[in-house]
Amino acid sequence: MAMKTRFISLLSLLLFVASISAQQLYMPRGVAKAFANGTRSMDGKPGPKYWQNKGVYNITLTVAPPSRTIRGSEEIRYTNNSPDTLDKLVLRLELNSHQPEAPREDPVATEYLTTGVHIDEYTENGKTKPWTDLKGLTFATVMLDKKLAPGSYVDMKIKWHVDLAPHNENGGREGAIDDTTFFIAYFYPRVAVYDDTSGWDVTPFTEGHEFYNDFNDYTLQVVAPRNFIVWATGDLQNAGEVLQPKFAERLQRSMTSNDIIHVATLKELSDKVVTQQSDTLTWRFKTDHISDVALAVSDHYIWDAGSVVVDKAANRRASVQAAYDEKSKDFEKMVEYAKHALDWESNNFPGTPYPFSKTTVVRGWADMEYPMMVNDSSQPDPNFTRFIVEHEILHSWFPFHMGINERRYAFMDEGWTTAFENLIVSADLGKPAADQMFKGFRVRSWALSNAVDTDLPIITPADAMAGMGYRNNEYGKPAVAYLALKDMLGDAEFKRILTEFIGRWNGKHTLPWDMFNTFNNVSGKDLNWFFRNWFFESHYMDVGVAGVIGSDGSGVSIKNTGGFAVPFDLVVEYADGKTERVHMTSSFWEKDQTRGTWNGNGRPLKSVTIDTGIYMDANDTDNKWAAKPEG
Ligand SMILES: [Zn+2]
Repeated sequence: MAMKTRFISLLSLLLFVASISAQQLYMPRGVAKAFANGTRSMDGKPGPKYWQNKGVYNITLTVAPPSRTIRGSEEIRYTNNSPDTLDKLVLRLELNSHQPEAPREDPVATEYLTTGVHIDEYTENGKTKPWTDLKGLTFATVMLDKKLAPGSYVDMKIKWHVDLAPHNENGGREGAIDDTTFFIAYFYPRVAVYDDTSGWDVTPFTEGHEFYNDFNDYTLQVVAPRNFIVWATGDLQNAGEVLQPKFAERLQRSMTSNDIIHVATLKELSDKVVTQQSDTLTWRFKTDHISDVALAVSDHYIWDAGSVVVDKAANRRASVQAAYDEKSKDFEKMVEYAKHALDWESNNFPGTPYPFSKTTVVRGWADMEYPMMVNDSSQPDPNFTRFIVEHEILHSWFPFHMGINERRYAFMDEGWTTAFENLIVSADLGKPAADQMFKGFRVRSWALSNAVDTDLPIITPADAMAGMGYRNNEYGKPAVAYLALKDMLGDAEFKRILTEFIGRWNGKHTLPWDMFNTFNNVSGKDLNWFFRNWFFESHYMDVGVAGVIGSDGSGVSIKNTGGFAVPFDLVVEYADGKTERVHMTSSFWEKDQTRGTWNGNGRPLKSVTIDTGIYMDANDTDNKWAAKPEG
């Protein structure tokens, strides 16, 4: 008896394990190893042995426009929290991407090219070591004199200089915006991420594949000539030392006011009455546990500021600032747009309070996000200005709050952001207009395309893709998948799970598998069929009516030619002339992703039409069935 019971339970355990593993999603070997090592957990939570490394950065940057040479010095204390002894460090020198020898996704103008980052002095644990500048590489391997044991740290001091590229209206992410306005990003040497799945991150920075950084603590000092304003990631620590009292007071007032306050007007800047008047001023910013810092400087950008409550429970406000030239009239409303974005996004989707104390939107060319900073172009259509800033601010959650490796899994960053973008534009302009824009801007290019790279599975590493294959697999395709997931789970349940995912992984390096596992764990369902279909397989969106079924012709057989588990509406016209719209979520395809039936309700059909809405159908010539007219 005992033997038999044990035998049966062993057998059922084996069957259970077999059925679990049969449903598992493909994992790269490094990711599977992380789960086996307990740094990640199959319930979707960080594992009991989760770790990440950390740097404390104290950076001083000297800028003096119109000179485009910027000079920096920094102290880094880098702590190894991994269980591995590190014999080397990888330092990232992202602005080497401007070197002629560097690989890039897209061609660049000649003016874009510079000689890259020049390290003037490298000191490790107090000892200065020789340094040879690199050509065409955006990271450098440094062999450590003393190996870095688990739990220990290394101190570095680095001095460097780099030339910014002259202004480039074709969308430079950083560099000169005009002669005396600079947007400065990716500018400081930093320790690459060393993580539990891949070790050192040595994916080249090729411009398009944007962020993967540790959560570090930063003190940033920017030394600029008088009469220049500096905006940067982090809280300004010394407004009283750099601004004249009246202007420091306006900035302070904006932190608690619902009004939009003109901190400095063009006239005041031209009159040179805004800053203190020593030759140079040191603007000091501080922020902890954040994945990057960026900054802007200008002597003629208008400065507006306001604030908005982003966490109603804690009554916490975030500062919202805008910096722009007089010609960019759409930016006169930028603080209002950005306040609206912070408010809506904090309370609806993603639906957790804006994670930072501030955002500053700078008029540039890039339409590009940085932690607490946005570099946006000026647009003739104010709706489009608002749309872009809503998108860029959404990145505050994905990838910055969530620590996503955007170089490899950009669908967790651009994908979520693009899905939420559709929702906030629906709130702004109404669902029909939002969906029209979404289809035109985010779906049509891949849904109706024959391009084979678009059909790669979304899970394909982003750094292995380029061009439209990259774009479609990181933006529109995953956005549609996330919206289908929300449609299937229902808004409240979807938001409950998303909130839990954000709660579990913010400030950490989350992976797609943590996200999929969290959705399974919190929903209590096995959604791997959905995740496999949308993220791990090659499909497109194409459903069609196969025919009516049932002896009375009251049901419909639906074929799925493209293979994606798309939600759709059946627009049904009954023989008696009455019509009805029946919604099918993706769960229609749970059991069989090639064919499904709607059994109807016993009323013979006169016609039936499939409406796929934003899930644009590749071939809609087979989306309608109609009974042959009688006689
Ligand atoms: Zn984006």
